[in-house]
Amino acid sequence: MTRSVIKTVVIYTVILVLALVISTLFILIPAYVHHIEGYVPGGFDTLYLSKYSPYDTIVVEMDYQPGMEPDPKAIAALKENIELYSHKHVVMHLSQDIGGEEVPLIVYGDDIFNITTRLQKAHRDHRTGWLGGNITLYIMYLDTVWQPDNSDYSSTMPAYQYETISNVYSVGVTYAADSMIIFKDAITREDMETTILLHELGHVWGLGHSNGSENVMNSKFNVFKDAPPDHNPVSNNFPTEYSSEDKLRLARLYESPHILPIF
Ligand SMILES: [Zn+2]
Repeated sequence: MTRSVIKTVVIYTVILVLALVISTLFILIPAYVHHIEGYVPGGFDTLYLSKYSPYDTIVVEMDYQPGMEPDPKAIAALKENIELYSHKHVVMHLSQDIGGEEVPLIVYGDDIFNITTRLQKAHRDHRTGWLGGNITLYIMYLDTVWQPDNSDYSSTMPAYQYETISNVYSVGVTYAADSMIIFKDAITREDMETTILLHELGHVWGLGHSNGSENVMNSKFNVFKDAPPDHNPVSNNFPTEYSSEDKLRLARLYESPHILPIF
């Protein structure tokens, strides 16, 4: 009798321990996956877009330096496109949070990511929930010129360059899974800002570059500081549409069941 009681207790203890181990793995594995993917643009694409995502609201926080305020038309187009492809509730938060002295006048190479990591620690108010609710997108509008390393961002570089690499600068960059930087001073033409925002949004959703002057994921929107206007690519047309292939990819992401909440 005693022996059978002990046996029963042992069996139930083993079952309980196994259940605990398995349930812990179910938490730790997604946590690890999202920890890794959080560093990669496109890493949260299905969390933003899938209809099975545990996140029902996308919060867009736009923090800018004095004088670098985002254009209302570009903000409206960004919101409209996020709603169109995610079918989620979108909330915009705009704030002149970042001080004028917080960013150097020129930033070289990967220094930009050290600077923006610091800016996020200081100014970011909205965070993605652990199990669901809000997923956030953080956009910084900075008063600086960024000269990226040719090697690291060669794919975002134009096909041709003017004189030296120091004359090439970037208008925007996506980094990590949920952040982008817009270099407002580099936005020199009307309607360019909408194109840049939608282009970077495409990267957040995992889209790569593609050619075609009507395609917002064209990479040749970088303008040349010292080049004559007629040598700037796409100088009179800034598209605001994704290509039909990219639209299809975004539609597939909406149907994708491959979602895991962030832990
Ligand atoms: Zn790009």
